[in-house]
Amino acid sequence: MDLSSLANSLPTGCLPVENSTVPFWHQDLHELHDHRTTEQLPESSDVVIIGAGYAGISTAYHLVKGDGADSKLSVTILEARGVCSGATGRNGGHLRPDMYSPMPKFIDRAGIERAVEVAEFEVAHLNAIKSLVEKENIDCDFTLTRSIDVWCNEEAAIKAKKLYDTLASRNLDYMKDVFFVLGKDAEGISGVKGAKACASFTAATLWPYKLILHLTESIIKTGLVNLQTHTPVTSVTRAPSGGFIVTTPRGTTLARKVVYANNAYVSGLLQQYSKAIVPCKGLCTYISVPEGITPPLLNNSYIVREEDEVVSYLIPRADGSIVVGGANSKYQPFLEQWYNNVDDSVLIDEVKTYFDGYMQRNFRGWENTGARVDKVWTGVMGYSWDSNPHVGAVPGEEDQYVLAGFNGHGMPVVFLSALGIAKMIRDGIKFEDAGVPRLFQTSQARLDKVKGGPVGGDILSKYA
Ligand SMILES: Cc1cc2nc3c(=O)[nH]c(=O)nc-3n(C[C@H](O)[C@H](O)[C@H](O)COP(=O)(O)OP(=O)(O)OC[C@H]3O[C@@H](n4cnc5c(N)ncnc54)[C@H](O)[C@@H]3O)c2cc1C
Repeated sequence: MDLSSLANSLPTGCLPVENSTVPFWHQDLHELHDHRTTEQLPESSDVVIIGAGYAGISTAYHLVKGDGADSKLSVTILEARGVCSGATGRNGGHLRPDMYSPMPKFIDRAGIERAVEVAEFEVAHLNAIKSLVEKENIDCDFTLTRSIDVWCNEEAAIKAKKLYDTLASRNLDYMKDVFFVLGKDAEGISGVKGAKACASFTAATLWPYKLILHLTESIIKTGLVNLQTHTPVTSVTRAPSGGFIVTTPRGTTLARKVVYANNAYVSGLLQQYSKAIVPCKGLCTYISVPEGITPPLLNNSYIVREEDEVVSYLIPRADGSIVVGGANSKYQPFLEQWYNNVDDSVLIDEVKTYFDGYMQRNFRGWENTGARVDKVWTGVMGYSWDSNPHVGAVPGEEDQYVLAGFNGHGMPVVFLSALGIAKMIRDGIKFEDAGVPRLFQTSQARLDKVKGGPVGGDILSKYA
């Protein structure tokens, strides 16, 4: 497949498809899943948020309910499908700050200070979400745990150790939580067969759909939020009298300010992002064990890099079942199956059976558990050209904000980015004072860099 022709055929006006595959997390849909607060769209609101995933609902939460909320603000949320039906409702439930893997890239590009901002911001999400869950009394299986990164390939293990040593030698505070083991004990500590190295650090696991639907309920109760599901936004234009006309197949609504929280689909409405944020598919599965079998306890979450360097993310659930996904490198050469593709109604051919027997293959003691894949689904991520999300005011556009492009890694990134956006809208503060890493700031310079850079940027760097 020719990369430039793929990149040049990026979708405009792209929207989520119907009949998406059903993730494990959607087994009991919440009564607000298909909610419409009013029969018709409201005539106008202070803020229209496009997208009811983690980003959209968190932004609304910070605006009307969180600390410093504004009780006079009217907010309308327009969602193309049901609440939390995009990436957030289909992900791995893994809230895992990435303490070191992307750091060399960020340090090379922007220096240590900016790179550390990202790591610390991700770590801060652990306490932010823990506090949120406790404050709002949210039943979402939130568990504070350790995540274990595992390397089964010897060369990769040695490389990882070198990176660990480099970062540790910088005396970075957050690295004090990372415990690295290279060599023979890695398998015994991680429980992963053939592990050559492992590293553990604090992380969390949760049921993302339950978190988001709980927040949805709590913001609807304020009476300040009008949620309209199954209402895709097809355009946003400036109104002659000020503000914006937001158009949907169900009519229009006026907004003083607009927030684009539609992640992978953002370029459907803001075409300037079409090469900066590309919709890319991923696959995830739910594995259960037959009734009456107690599988070996896994009380950590995982990133497993197998001998052939295929990477999976995995969370254990308290009932012994597992959510595991990834295996991207298996399907990456088949661009048409995942790159610039919003079709989460079909699985990814190359990996749709990859997780059959996964636990037996990789985890000590699981050989005779009968663990089997019960559900497989796909989801669409907004991959960003330079691996960082785009957060802040849309360049050159007053009163329009974007938070999108969270890659396969939104859980430790979105909530506090949304707080930053809420502060900008609510308190009129600048991005620089919003508490969001500088590397995340959306800017014309970042968009221009994409135009002048290689097709696909970080996303396709292996194949360009
Ligand atoms: C298979 C998979 C596994 C993942 N695993 C993890 C993980 O374990 N840990 C982690 O940190 N991250 C993971 N991610 C990434 C994470 O889920 C995302 O980064 C995060 O959920 C992004 O949240 P969001 O609200 O920006 O996007 P979304 O949840 O996709 O929300 C965007 C919403 O906008 C709506 N929308 C789109 N266009 C329009 C329009 N024009 N009008 C109205 N609404 C519109 C969509 O329907 C959608 O509901 C995974 C993603 C996938 C797909």
